Amino acid sequence: MKSSITFLRLFLLVAFSFAQRDFSEVKVEATQVKNNVYMLTGSGGNIGVVTGKDGVVMIDNQFAPLADKIKEAIKGIGGDDVTYMINTHFHGDHTGGNAVFGGDGAMVVAHDNVRKRLSTEQKRANGDVVAPQPQEAWPIVTFEQQVKFYLNDEEIELIHADRAHTDGDVVVFFRKANVIHTGDVFVTYGYPFIDASSGASITGMINFLDQVIEAIDEETIVIPGHGPLSRKKDVIAFRDRLQDILDKVLVQKRKGKTIEEIIEMKITQEYDEEWGGGFIKAKDFLLLLDESLSEK
Ligand SMILES: [Zn+2]
Repeated sequence: MKSSITFLRLFLLVAFSFAQRDFSEVKVEATQVKNNVYMLTGSGGNIGVVTGKDGVVMIDNQFAPLADKIKEAIKGIGGDDVTYMINTHFHGDHTGGNAVFGGDGAMVVAHDNVRKRLSTEQKRANGDVVAPQPQEAWPIVTFEQQVKFYLNDEEIELIHADRAHTDGDVVVFFRKANVIHTGDVFVTYGYPFIDASSGASITGMINFLDQVIEAIDEETIVIPGHGPLSRKKDVIAFRDRLQDILDKVLVQKRKGKTIEEIIEMKITQEYDEEWGGGFIKAKDFLLLLDESLSEK
């Protein structure tokens, strides 16, 4: 069991070690979502942008080497310097540009635990150590549960839930445009990454999705952490699938089965064709799910 988790961690570390990656071919493109709310795509998590008289409000920023292309894309939609830089969570494919935008003078805003994780050495469960980010990358405004910004004729609301994809996730509502950026609590790349070693929880993630589903309607446009613009029905389908897999795991655990035995049963088979092609395979997903049930 330990060896399979260690293997997974190594795989994830490779997948997340972006330092050596070549971003020169990456194009950053802007899509108007609604009103003055835009989505920027390039490489890494989807970026949200709100333009207007109060300056650019940006949600997540992918990777530092893409910062110039991101700035170009923002100019292309009539924006200028980033004034407010919001992070949905601490992962490097969402905060990699924090030091650039923070260094330029943007106010970096995130949940308390994002600052904790970016500003301290992160020990992963396999013993690997990730150095702290430079100080310009640290959020200078943090909060515990929720915060609202009244900017650019929008009402931008950040809501945190304990332990979901990490322990510092927020979703960002744009109330007037009726748009939501979910961070990695909702993604479309297949089996989602439950970052158990950073405080994630499968039950917390499902609860957070329930909260999101309750708060949006059929007209709401959903910017996922990764993937194309989506709708409420997509979030519901995603949530139902997670619940179904969790239920199946719990039934077997109650019978005394280990997670290795449950993996052998191929309980996720019906979802593998659609979800198995992402960077998290069914087996890894089940290991993370199980770990997130036991981790405090
Ligand atoms: Zn993430």
